[in-house]
Amino acid sequence: MDFLLSEEQLQVEDMVRNLARKEFAPKAALVDEESRYPAENMSRLAELGLLGMLYPVGYGGSEAGPIAYSVALREVAGACASTGVGMAVTNMVGEAIFRFGTEEQRRAYLPLLSGGKGAGAFALTEPGAGSDAGGLATFAREDGDTFVIDGSKVFITNGGNACVSIVMAVTQKSPRRISAFLVPPGTPGYSVGKREHKMGLKGSDTVSLSFDGCRVPKSSMLGKPGEGLKIALAALDGGRIGIASQAIGIARAAVSAAVEYAKDRRQFGRPISEFQAIQWMLADAATELDAAQLLAYRAASLKEKGVPFAKEASMAKVFATEAGNRACHKAVQVLGGYGYIREYPVERHLRDIKVTTIYEGTSEVQRLVISRSLLR
Ligand SMILES: Cc1cc2nc3c(=O)[nH]c(=O)nc-3n(C[C@H](O)[C@H](O)[C@H](O)COP(=O)(O)OP(=O)(O)OC[C@H]3O[C@@H](n4cnc5c(N)ncnc54)[C@H](O)[C@@H]3O)c2cc1C
Repeated sequence: MDFLLSEEQLQVEDMVRNLARKEFAPKAALVDEESRYPAENMSRLAELGLLGMLYPVGYGGSEAGPIAYSVALREVAGACASTGVGMAVTNMVGEAIFRFGTEEQRRAYLPLLSGGKGAGAFALTEPGAGSDAGGLATFAREDGDTFVIDGSKVFITNGGNACVSIVMAVTQKSPRRISAFLVPPGTPGYSVGKREHKMGLKGSDTVSLSFDGCRVPKSSMLGKPGEGLKIALAALDGGRIGIASQAIGIARAAVSAAVEYAKDRRQFGRPISEFQAIQWMLADAATELDAAQLLAYRAASLKEKGVPFAKEASMAKVFATEAGNRACHKAVQVLGGYGYIREYPVERHLRDIKVTTIYEGTSEVQRLVISRSLLR
């Protein structure tokens, strides 16, 4: 058993850490304050091959693999969480198109995604179907050589900046079939709705999408008829390693800010880092984040080896996101009142990390996935 990253993975870690700390971190507070989509960060990620890390060079990707991807995403999210989620969904969409798409679909979209010509969006959630992903109401009716999609999606990350959205829709009511479609912007009947005002990840573009008689060619179906839910769940399995990595990155940034603060801040005539209460908060947070990192590496390494990893990805996600939330709470506590104001980054880290226990399957849904595999 080897707990060390390979030479190439260390190079990715070093390169992305430098980029993220020098270019993304200094602007992260402003991106948050202005709720501004960090387009320039996405362009930089594209230049460095970080938006197509999970498919081959022949399609514009960098095929760095799940472990390197997890490391890169962790570093980006630690510097600017809004950029991290844009990167995560774009990589996830590209991987799904590579895995399930036709040659024509791969050639059409993968170079655009990795080249930063637009982000990728993954449109599953609807007003009436969140955790119950199978309960979609969006319907795609077959009509000659086309499908006509009607319905709406909510909370879609990158929706307003996407060059393609993977849209899940019911294509047959009985027996029920859900299929996936690749829908580019500008398709008649497809429109982007309001941008959500969120607690955190404020730079990330989270929108609703409407499909009103949206006609797409049959060739836009991703995978076979009825494979939509399978494709969505497969994408989410990999995505969950990404969310675990994102949470670890955000929480590490919070703990590292708390460590620096504790060494500097003096009360009762000494640095607060000399109080055991502060030391224990930092020690507990660091230990939990290391455990989370090992779970994320295990899931990524199983994925890299091509063996089943769904249960391990859920374990990594539920543990890393909950431990990450606890760590961010502790970081705010270490800073006292200063942890609660915008001048210090831990306030933003706490707001940014909250959603990691919610999206791509809530903590409760992860526990369902894990317990199902135990009780099978
Ligand atoms: C910032 C942000 C970005 C997002 N990005 C995307 C995106 O890009 N694409 C996309 O498709 N979706 C996206 N989502 C949606 C997200 O995945 C859903 O919000 C999430 O899956 C939960 O669905 P819901 O909000 O409808 O909550 P609900 O499903 O209504 O859940 C409410 C509560 O009930 C619990 N619950 C539900 N069912 C069960 C059960 N069987 N057992 C126990 N507890 C249960 C949940 O865990 C939760 O605590 C995003 C959401 C946010 C906030």
